[in-house]
Amino acid sequence: MTATPISEIPLIRDTLRASFRKGLTRPIEWRKHQLYQLARMLQDNAEAFADALGQDLGKPRLETYGFEIGAIVERILLTADRLDDWAKPTAVNSACVVYWSCLRQFTRFSDWQKPLKPTVYKAAKGTVLIIAPWNFPVVLSLQPLIGAIAAGCCAVLKPSEISPHFSALVAELFPKYLDPNAYRVVLAAVPETTKLLELQWDHIFYTGNARVARIISAAAAKHLTPLTLELGGKSPAIVDPSCDINLAAKRILWAKSHNCGQLCVAPDYVVIPRSHQEAFVSATKEWYAEFFPEGSMQSSSISRIVSPEHHARLMDLLKRSKGKVIMGGQTEGNTKIEITVLKDVPADDSFMDGEIFGPFLPIVPVDNFEDAIEFVRDRDHPLVLYAFTENPETKKRILDETMSGTIVFNDLIQQLSFNELPFGGVGQSGYGRQMAQYTFDAFSYERAGLDVPNEVEPFNAIRYPPYNDEKFKI
Ligand code: NAD
Repeated sequence: MTATPISEIPLIRDTLRASFRKGLTRPIEWRKHQLYQLARMLQDNAEAFADALGQDLGKPRLETYGFEIGAIVERILLTADRLDDWAKPTAVNSACVVYWSCLRQFTRFSDWQKPLKPTVYKAAKGTVLIIAPWNFPVVLSLQPLIGAIAAGCCAVLKPSEISPHFSALVAELFPKYLDPNAYRVVLAAVPETTKLLELQWDHIFYTGNARVARIISAAAAKHLTPLTLELGGKSPAIVDPSCDINLAAKRILWAKSHNCGQLCVAPDYVVIPRSHQEAFVSATKEWYAEFFPEGSMQSSSISRIVSPEHHARLMDLLKRSKGKVIMGGQTEGNTKIEITVLKDVPADDSFMDGEIFGPFLPIVPVDNFEDAIEFVRDRDHPLVLYAFTENPETKKRILDETMSGTIVFNDLIQQLSFNELPFGGVGQSGYGRQMAQYTFDAFSYERAGLDVPNEVEPFNAIRYPPYNDEKFKI
């Protein structure tokens, strides 16, 4: 991947700003055309994207077609279909309260305000920057872009240098499908991204880790630029003995294996009452054998670790862990690690220090269900809280007593297939929301408007000085 020359970066931003100012992105039909072009880009080049993700991550083609390209094409079509509705101005009903001096009372008096046409306009924020990570390159780069196009913004997309084949491919394809006066890819590692962040943007949409999020936030603060921060963290899976433990083990193991654990909504760890740990362990062993009869490293259904650096980081966690490996634990070369399950993992373990973002599933036993909830509450609010329980009261308690961006009972990852559910974090897992209309909203702002006719002037009489006795007769 050859990075975009630093000297070109301000010129790219200025070109897009000039286009926005000229109103290039304003017509809804033009935005829809760009959205359809984006879908065409994915459909025409599905093979090339599958090859690129294969090279970057060893991603199985089925996953690229289904979870990346298919999901994004579906959201593009949905967005184009609903855009007229989302973008249209909304007339609001006023519920103004007026004080009538002569009556010495307050009255709700909304009809008087109707002729002033109070309206909320959905307006584009302007020229925006999208910074994406490597783990789901298609979705995490293009999902924000769909919202930016739909809202009428110009956008620079900066994909990750850690998925270089994907990044080079989108950089090559963008000008063939999208208007380069409005949408550009900047290929950047840290020096070029630092240059991008020196410039003023009208919104920055960042997806990635919390350390870099702090750098982005500090840069954005200099220009008072609004941000969406889609971060990660440790998403727990609480297993309550009332659930079907066999099914919970099956679903959790599958979710941990997906993209080799390199997924922001992967279950980071399992917390379970000690009395039920062995039942969960033996169910996990059975499903492991069923999913990976040839061993998980040999499986063609699993991605690999993205880079030797991440491999080294993960193997160091394993080396320092005090947990007992019950499945997996082997490694090969510098990008392959078996899906690995560990039991009896203590709270101060290496695996409990930060987000794992790899194929390790630590099981943390606690004394009882109360302690499981406390264990989760003692830590940062997760991106997702998974809880396996059949008990309605337990569900209510978990809902009431914890916080997370998303809560899912009795399954995992499935939440991402709902276009109507907002996706995002809370606290240390980030802020802002995306998904279909929520992504459109992230790149729009609500512009309040009035259009006041001259004829309402008699109603304004009370506001003009002098405030003499005549005013009290109104
Ligand atoms: P990454 O290393 O690709 O970094 C993300 C982006 O930040 C890249 O574009 C990269 O170039 C840029 N970057 C890196 N260092 C920078 C710096 N010093 N200054 C400016 N920009 C810089 O990806 P990652 O951070 O390893 O991604 C994994 C993390 O992202 C995990 O924490 C995961 O949970 C989180 N994530 C969150 C979501 C979500 O939607 N909430 C989705 C996927 C991943």
